[in-house]
Amino acid sequence: MLSLKTVPKAIALISGGLDSALAASLVKSWGIDVVGLHLISPFGCTTDAEKVAKELQIPLIIKEKGEAFIELVEKPQYGYGSQMNPCIDCRIYMFELAEKTRIEQKADFIITGEVVGQRPLSQNKNAMKLIDRKSPVEDLILRPLSGGNIAATLAEKKGWVKRENLLKISGRGRGEQIALAKTLSLSEYSSPGGGCLLTEKAFSSRLKDFYSHPTYKTPEQKMAQASLLRLGRHFRLSEKTKVIVARTEAENNEITRLWKESGALFFKPANFIGPSALVFGSLTSETKQQVTSLLARYGKKPEGESFKVESLEMNSENQVYPSLLIVTEPTSDDILNQWRIGIT
Ligand code: SF4
Repeated sequence: MLSLKTVPKAIALISGGLDSALAASLVKSWGIDVVGLHLISPFGCTTDAEKVAKELQIPLIIKEKGEAFIELVEKPQYGYGSQMNPCIDCRIYMFELAEKTRIEQKADFIITGEVVGQRPLSQNKNAMKLIDRKSPVEDLILRPLSGGNIAATLAEKKGWVKRENLLKISGRGRGEQIALAKTLSLSEYSSPGGGCLLTEKAFSSRLKDFYSHPTYKTPEQKMAQASLLRLGRHFRLSEKTKVIVARTEAENNEITRLWKESGALFFKPANFIGPSALVFGSLTSETKQQVTSLLARYGKKPEGESFKVESLEMNSENQVYPSLLIVTEPTSDDILNQWRIGIT
């Protein structure tokens, strides 16, 4: 595996959080050539991975987890954590992608920021052993933050890293990591509260709804609809109809960008200031009226006239058919609460 090179090379999984930044920084400080790898979820997330890589002065490879990850989250082999977070399956999947990158980059081992006992589902010794066994990386993973507490892996066996340098952090506390970040002068990392959307209750409600009411016809639509789950306010009007209403101008721009790709119908204010909406599934004249009322609920009433909403429908040849709808009455808060999916 390692032959001609004099300096060992490692692929560091970089999430954007503190632990993975610390792990990569430590290993780099031991004279090892470190390349970062950040994996993007199809559900999206906010991440400081690029800032972390810049601060660590390491190159960063960014790869997509892709459509297969959407299927993995729907039917994980090893179950979920407290929400729709299938951490064991997710780690196995990430290690598979890391291993592909390790081979492409001709690197020798893989670094993660995992800490024994930090996450009940995936970061305990038994789960870590299971993950290593089920992924193609058994023995190739180095966990510098907890390595002093667990069995030696290839990097140690080959003498690329020394056991006395490996830390023995365990448990859910963050004190040791925060102190170490100060010692290593690291500041560009996400707060521990941020991170994976799959661990959030409101997002998990939207995800369950997405899996139980599929409206995509192509892989492209599926990916676009998955990336829309984190945006806007979500409402289920009926078993057949879901609506996403933008909350901010940035979300308005994002849903406008994604509407054709997602296979949705697009609704926007015609004579007032307010948000746009995407509609998934089928529309009756009743649900059409409900969507227009929803937009009026979040819009500013025009002086002396009724709210008017334009709907844009696209046929299979990508031709757009506009139509104008008059709003009879904005949706009441009671009705809104009945339609809401998760907290919006
Ligand atoms: S918290 Fe999210 S990203 Fe991390 S292992 Fe679990 S599912 Fe995967």
